[in-house]
Amino acid sequence: MRAEIVSVGTEILLGEITDTNSSYLARQLPSLGIDLYWISQVGDNQSRLVEVLKRAWQRSDLVLTSGGLGPTEDDITREAIAEVLGEKIGVDPSLEQGLRERFSQWHMAMPLSNLKQATIIPSAKPIPNTRGTAPGWWVSRDDRIIVAMPGPPAELQEMWQREVRPALQQMSEAIILSRVFKTSGLSEAAVGEMVAPLLSSSNPTLAVYSKADGIQLRLTAKAASQKQAEQVIAEGEIRVRELLDRYIWGTDDDTLETAAGRLLIEKGLTLSVIEDYSGGWLAASITDIPQSPVFFRGGLVACSDQAKIALGVDEAIISRYGAVSPEMAQSMAEVARELLKSDIAISTTGLLENENEPAGVTYIGISDGENSRAIRRSRGKRRVTTTALLELRRLLTSSN
Ligand code: ATP
Ligand code: MG
Repeated sequence: MRAEIVSVGTEILLGEITDTNSSYLARQLPSLGIDLYWISQVGDNQSRLVEVLKRAWQRSDLVLTSGGLGPTEDDITREAIAEVLGEKIGVDPSLEQGLRERFSQWHMAMPLSNLKQATIIPSAKPIPNTRGTAPGWWVSRDDRIIVAMPGPPAELQEMWQREVRPALQQMSEAIILSRVFKTSGLSEAAVGEMVAPLLSSSNPTLAVYSKADGIQLRLTAKAASQKQAEQVIAEGEIRVRELLDRYIWGTDDDTLETAAGRLLIEKGLTLSVIEDYSGGWLAASITDIPQSPVFFRGGLVACSDQAKIALGVDEAIISRYGAVSPEMAQSMAEVARELLKSDIAISTTGLLENENEPAGVTYIGISDGENSRAIRRSRGKRRVTTTALLELRRLLTSSN
């Protein structure tokens, strides 16, 4: 099945919103065995949308649209689909009734313009929208399908997961499953060499990608049933792990934060952070994960000598070694560990770019009370945060 996505909205073309709906849908299609060939973006203009949809209707089996289902004059997706298919658009009495009931539940009179959202064409079936007033359309004719979904991402995603995805899943012949392995400490070339024997396999396939938090491998299996695909993935995983298990820190949706958090929880250990250079990034990324209250004691942001001294860093360390030094990084970690009564603490130091420090050096300190160490890195908040989390993981996995 050849698919195409059409995102409708002038806001996209003005650069005011980012077209996250098409990337969301694009990510969903491989696991359904549907090949995506094109993504187009078009403004709220009926003749241009008709032009784009005509082309899509000719070259694709499945067209997914997002946006333009609202009640206003510039919401033109329904009208454009009707025009492309040459079908008459009209109000559907049961859709109108549903819409009216919805408004009366909200104790509101239904504006006349909302009637637009109760219109349909003979080849379309309405798709319920549990989060908004605009139903989607499932249009099926001449062995082709157009699925029109609303623009607000929460509405689109809910409609996709509840209605559209299951319907497409039933039609699809092949199941595609994939599993991602996330590594650290290896270059892309080194990973490529280590898994070389697997790279030529056609089912499962294995691909290597470089990401901000390390090198990833994606194992993908194609099979006639979910069960068979799972089996192919499970066998592939055994082979991948035989080759590089000790470098793998997570799979699929794992992040460094969730992987480190899981280890801390398993070991019953607590964490705190103290940040100069990263200014709160590290604490923010840790608190993004819902389990963080279990292990995270808190974070301190200390960007001046005064703040560091007030928190308990020895003034002599600053005068002897400087504010950006391995000694300072270790001392800060120890201070945070004691102040916040955690088992482990991490610190970041470093100077923002200036004339005297063009190269930009940062130190990440980590202490568990018995051992403390400092790691030197070049600038970059994301890089510093990533290193901090990898060091934490290293400490947790080496002290078994
Ligand atoms: P509404 O009833 O809200 O008018 P609609 O189906 O007509 O819904 P649009 O008017 O095109 O959709 O977009 C409504 C809002 O949804 C936009 O302001 C934007 O915030 C969000 N949105 C629309 N299209 C996209 C997209 N492709 N990616 C991400 N967000 C989008
Ligand atoms: Mg709209």
